[in-house]
Amino acid sequence: MTMYRKNIKEMAAYVPGEQPAPGAKVIKLNTNENPYPPSPRAMEALREFDGRRLRQYSDPHASAFCQAAAEVHGVPCEWILAGNGSDDLLAMIVLACAEPGRKVVYPTPTYVLYRTLAQMQAAPFVEVPYGPDFELPLEQLICENGAVTFIARPNSPSGTSAPLEQIEALARGVCGLVVLDEAYADFSHDNGLELVKRYQNVVALRTLSKGYSLAGLRLGYAVGNPSVLAMLNKVKDSYPVDAVACAVGAAAMGDQEYMSKCACVVRSSRAKLLEGLSGLGFRVWPSESNFVLAQAAACMGNCAAQRIYDRLKREGILVRYFKEPLLEDKLRITVGTDEQNATLIAAIAKILEC
Ligand SMILES: *Cc1c(COP(=O)(O)O)cnc(C)c1O
Repeated sequence: MTMYRKNIKEMAAYVPGEQPAPGAKVIKLNTNENPYPPSPRAMEALREFDGRRLRQYSDPHASAFCQAAAEVHGVPCEWILAGNGSDDLLAMIVLACAEPGRKVVYPTPTYVLYRTLAQMQAAPFVEVPYGPDFELPLEQLICENGAVTFIARPNSPSGTSAPLEQIEALARGVCGLVVLDEAYADFSHDNGLELVKRYQNVVALRTLSKGYSLAGLRLGYAVGNPSVLAMLNKVKDSYPVDAVACAVGAAAMGDQEYMSKCACVVRSSRAKLLEGLSGLGFRVWPSESNFVLAQAAACMGNCAAQRIYDRLKREGILVRYFKEPLLEDKLRITVGTDEQNATLIAAIAKILEC
């Protein structure tokens, strides 16, 4: 008898992007945080939060927040389940649906946490490669018929979104749950909420980490049929959302105008960043998110992406490099302010000169 389950011993821990110490002088374009501050209304809710409330447990259902989210999406409160970031909701889904013999399916490359969560449950995971331009491998995904199928939409690290008609075909074609991980939906021209309303087996995950500039608050939520959320409710933590997150999150949700305004600025910066990168010779894909994927050209030499990543890091600019199949010649770059993006472009131009 050893102390640990075999699957836990054999799996690798999830490795998040580097988080330099607060106040460190870096341009941080590696974990898709929003370059703009949270809504003034969220900041005000934080200032006015009465610390004495922390003596008691938080609301186990974060009702004040769920109410605000329900209003934004035009659904009843019962259609919202809040968690400690959308990562927490991903974990609840895998816990509720997957086990040995009940598989987790997703197209790759994508968010690496899906694999980690499947491994934790000792559930089989089937990784179906996207096409060369990140076309959804629809037939194969349907054929695999997972207990859970994860689709990050927009996808990370590609920034692309599979057409909604294909997501609908997937929802019709599989018996299991289809999870639309919509962490970046706030930067996108469309989303899957209509499909969530029409198909009982479709659930969408949203987060305040990206569009609402509140990654450190740790607050995300699922929008789904109450029959799905009732199952997730059984496996959730007792108090997944702390009282501060609930109050600040509700205020942030209530300020849609501010969120949309920031997302609009990010989208226009994104267009300029894509232009700058293709001007330097990178191949880029259209992005529906707040980051872009850039493929180094052959003429940039061997291991160009990794070399550029390393050089940028030494100069205090963090981007994301994944040493994984299909990504070894690419960089994922978060859209920063226009000024940050211009600094990045100039730094890469200098690296490419020598
Ligand atoms: C950032 C991200 C999340 C995690 O969001 P949190 O709410 O901060 O846990 C989930 N899925 C994808 C694809 C992401 O990029």
